[in-house]
Amino acid sequence: MALDNQIKKDEYFDELETMSANERDAYFKNRVAKTVTNAYNNAPAAKRMLDNAGVSPSQIKTIKDLELLPVTRKADIIEMQKSNPPYGGFLCIPEDDIERVFVSPGPIYEPMQHTGIKWFAKSFWAAGFRKGDVVVNTFTYHMSPAGILCHEAIRDCGATAVPVGTGHTEVTVKVMLDLRATGYVGTPSFLMAIIKQAEELGYDFKKDFYVKRAWFTGEMLAPSVRKTLEEDYNIDTYQAYAVTEPGGAIAYECNCKDGLHLMDEYIVEIVNPANGKQLSDGEVGEVVVTPVHNSTWGLLRFGTGDLSSIVDDVCPCGRTSKKLNGIQGRIGEAVKVRGMFVVSKQAESVFAQFEEVVKWQITVNRIDQRDEMTITAELINDVCDKIELADEIGAKFKSICLVTPDKIDFVSSGTLPQDGKSIIDNRKWE
Ligand SMILES: [Zn+2]
Repeated sequence: MALDNQIKKDEYFDELETMSANERDAYFKNRVAKTVTNAYNNAPAAKRMLDNAGVSPSQIKTIKDLELLPVTRKADIIEMQKSNPPYGGFLCIPEDDIERVFVSPGPIYEPMQHTGIKWFAKSFWAAGFRKGDVVVNTFTYHMSPAGILCHEAIRDCGATAVPVGTGHTEVTVKVMLDLRATGYVGTPSFLMAIIKQAEELGYDFKKDFYVKRAWFTGEMLAPSVRKTLEEDYNIDTYQAYAVTEPGGAIAYECNCKDGLHLMDEYIVEIVNPANGKQLSDGEVGEVVVTPVHNSTWGLLRFGTGDLSSIVDDVCPCGRTSKKLNGIQGRIGEAVKVRGMFVVSKQAESVFAQFEEVVKWQITVNRIDQRDEMTITAELINDVCDKIELADEIGAKFKSICLVTPDKIDFVSSGTLPQDGKSIIDNRKWE
């Protein structure tokens, strides 16, 4: 069985993780053509989409060619399933070959075959789960895919899975203690709730419990929470980015914890949400996903609504895929300045590096047909060299957000409004 081979491997879950750039290019060329052809031939919704766009499947030979097709969003799938129940014309296989159907909010019905989901385990493998681990899985086991898929992935790594599900904080504390659980799978906030509950019951979590690693998805792992879990509780933390509609985890952290490696089971594009055109590495845009690992579901170019960018660095872990630079916000939480998205979260990471700045706000105006961006920063005190500080902030902002601020105004503490708005867009587009 393949499982035994995987357990023998120490570093990587499969050979895709270490493909050379040329191998990966060839792999994706082959997959993109196969995926589009399969969807066109078997899923009426995909056929209609290509026909409406005036594109034949033979025209889609590279990832770049996907730009010829429109982006499909959650709301589109809900509408299509409503008017053409139950699968909206996305199903590529006979209905009696469906092994399971997940239900996501909407509702969206997601048919799945069990074959070909084993790759999902590579994010757990990268987090260090192995045979001998006892892992509590706190994702829900009904309707949505998270519980069952994580359960199977834990098993695929050889570890023991304990299906505790969501919400039973006190009983989960007892189960973890009694079974000497070494791993946790769920959201970061639920793990924090478990620790708090254990402490309220009089336990010393670090001493009395055995949890040494945790795998998170479904929620951002805040740097402060990561620091608390790792430093105060000795728990090695990992996160993955998962989207349910195209069926699973799309990117995952290795032990370098600096960006999330892209899974080769998906084509991930970063696009301008206004026109679906692909952006360059480093530019922030919408994460658009096309699954290329199964032939069940003919979903092409699913628009997640999440904003991120791609990092193409050599990772010391040896995995060769590019990385997703976290999720930096949702469409609507970002503002486009001279063609680049400026996302509140990214700007926050700039100012986190300047102790002198206690609060900040970005204002975008349109002056003489040009976007003008002003940063207003509240200073902790008035004694620093403001010209030098403005230069440093400007340079840091440019390196992280890829746009240079036009103006940086410093004001004294307490001047900015307490309305929680970090980005103000004053442009009028009449
Ligand atoms: Zn890595």
